Amino acid sequence: MIRVSAGSAACLGLATNKMDAYPTTAYFLSGNRCLMNCAFCPQGVGQNEVLNRLGRVTWPEYPWPEVEKTLVQAEKKGIRRVCLQSVRHEDGIESLLKLIARVKAITTLPLSLSAWIRDEQEAEELIDAGVDRVSVSLDVANPSAYREIKGGSLQQRLNLLFGCARNLPGRISTHIICGLGESEAEVLSLLNRLVEAGVTAALFAFIPLKGTPLEHREPPAVDSYRRIQAGYYLLREKAADFSSFAFDKERLISFGLPSNDLKQLLADGTAFQTTGCAHCNRPFYNERPGGIIYNYHRELNEEEKEASWSELVQSLTEKRF
Ligand code: SF4
Repeated sequence: MIRVSAGSAACLGLATNKMDAYPTTAYFLSGNRCLMNCAFCPQGVGQNEVLNRLGRVTWPEYPWPEVEKTLVQAEKKGIRRVCLQSVRHEDGIESLLKLIARVKAITTLPLSLSAWIRDEQEAEELIDAGVDRVSVSLDVANPSAYREIKGGSLQQRLNLLFGCARNLPGRISTHIICGLGESEAEVLSLLNRLVEAGVTAALFAFIPLKGTPLEHREPPAVDSYRRIQAGYYLLREKAADFSSFAFDKERLISFGLPSNDLKQLLADGTAFQTTGCAHCNRPFYNERPGGIIYNYHRELNEEEKEASWSELVQSLTEKRF
């Protein structure tokens, strides 16, 4: 059995439910109970029994042979990548290597893997097994929040992430969740280091999930999230330099660009779309249909572009944006 995100299941034809939007990556979740105990995640050892949830998304289980049959046809259904997310297993990466071999045997689509790896050698083994990109998730950008929410040391995880990025250039990703106690200066400084190291970061907005210790915490303010998205976009497009960003009490107040230039750079709305591996759009992973959209899974329409720009500029206080 393997868990398949509800949207992927509908797209692949495993389920018949209609979705508001379909993914361009097929998302799978391996394992039922994670050895970690992250306070935001329903998969941890100490959490209540809500194992079919990750993000806002449900992950029904399917027998692998059924999944295999639909995966052969995935490209025809608009799928451009396969993403295997894995809880931290007792046997390390052993069971994952078997699963990767089975996926590689039936599809040539690029495969992303997000898993708990112990060292650089494991990342190399996974790449040698045919994985296109390995994600070494950070999740939390502030060191003390990291200790409280995930346990362990952010610095150690960063050492592993940057070590992997040096050894395997262009093949390493990470996940960062905004709204877990980090400041805007902290997360943007980290994103700058990741861009410089060639690591692709996928940004998420924290969402409180029932049954987890953080179920009562608020999601991040949308204007703050827009500043992070815009800053990350400008950094990865090399359109602005981190040293030109200005902060007031760790809150971003300026990108150091003339406002007309900034508007032009952000005009097409790409900055506010889902980030991460190519073709990873994660529809409604962070948001409910009809609610605030933190990460747009598609191109923005004119109204959405204008709204995102307004959310952003209202909160920038200098004349030079
Ligand atoms: S960015 Fe998307 S495709 Fe890449 S590992 Fe994360 S969820 Fe998977």
